[in-house]
Amino acid sequence: MSSNALPIGLYVHVPFCVRKCAYCDFASYAGRETDLPRYVDAVVQEIARRGRQTGHPAVDTIFLGGGTPSLLSASQAARLLDALADAFAIRSDAEITCEGNPGTLTQPFARALRTAGVNRLSLGAQAAPSRLLQLLGRIHDWTEVIASVEISRQSGFENLNVDLMFGVPSQSLSEWRETLEAAMALRPEHLSCYSLTVEEGTPIGNQIAAGTLALPDEAVEREMYELARQMLEQQGFQQYEISNFAREGFCCRHNLGCWTRVPYLGFGCAAHSFWGECRTWNSSSLDAYLAQQPPTSEPISPEEARFESVMLGLRMMRGVQDTDFTRRHGMSLRQAFGEKLDKPIHDGLLEWHAGSLRLTRHGMDLQNTVLVDLM
Ligand code: SF4
Repeated sequence: MSSNALPIGLYVHVPFCVRKCAYCDFASYAGRETDLPRYVDAVVQEIARRGRQTGHPAVDTIFLGGGTPSLLSASQAARLLDALADAFAIRSDAEITCEGNPGTLTQPFARALRTAGVNRLSLGAQAAPSRLLQLLGRIHDWTEVIASVEISRQSGFENLNVDLMFGVPSQSLSEWRETLEAAMALRPEHLSCYSLTVEEGTPIGNQIAAGTLALPDEAVEREMYELARQMLEQQGFQQYEISNFAREGFCCRHNLGCWTRVPYLGFGCAAHSFWGECRTWNSSSLDAYLAQQPPTSEPISPEEARFESVMLGLRMMRGVQDTDFTRRHGMSLRQAFGEKLDKPIHDGLLEWHAGSLRLTRHGMDLQNTVLVDLM
């Protein structure tokens, strides 16, 4: 039985990479490409099983993420998409995204994706200066980013996202400006600008802990974020989420679904699902996934669900609509959070706007403080 009459999202994780980047602690494996055929078989089986268990619900968005999905062969990608189409009722206007890393995206693969119905590509470009790409351990340089965009356009993609990263150790404000200018010259429809999260145990994390690398200081990082906002706005992009900017009509529907708690099913190693007020996740070990280790599940209490709605919803510029919150949770935001709303509103971090609760500009810099107040 479907948990929701509204269409859901689907995610397929492809945990293979050419090389492990120096900052990465995602579930991704380098040097395991020989396991790809076995992995695709396992994911195809999981898709069929979950389709049956969930009653073949309607689907509005699909996201092939990684890892590096562009390491799949054209026929492997088509098999995964066919399996999704067999197991779910995919809408004819569904948004279907595939991530691709510059240096791995080929024209035959991009053409095959387009033929198979993929209509959005997301490219992990990260930074224009070669010095920073090397420091991050990426396999590409900017000429390969340009080549990937050309391949995408020639293959018929009219909806491209480019991922960029700021707050990289030793990165200067002018290097960030150079990256933004280079990215805008690619004329993408969508840009994601993430600040680097330093993960313990990664090569970059180790170097920072040892004092051989230093992050830009907080004020510089804030300036970088402001610069992105200003430059992208001047170029006609609208910021619709803390890290995401889009030209009109090109917001990522899959991510909007996640931030508004639309149910989604994830397939593959480390993939998470949110279904029937329950979270489920597969092992992040590729070997455990291939050995069919069962997923882990935990229910979400009504109180957790209300907090999650606000935590995710406040990431979006439009905030959390009170009528939407009331429809989902059977009580208004004021009923759910009571006096806890007063302090962040009084401190100028939260505000009511057109029936929605949203972060102010200042509140966006202090999002964690607001969430602690609401906890
Ligand atoms: S390409 Fe992405 S997933 Fe793969 S190692 Fe680099 S950051 Fe990690």
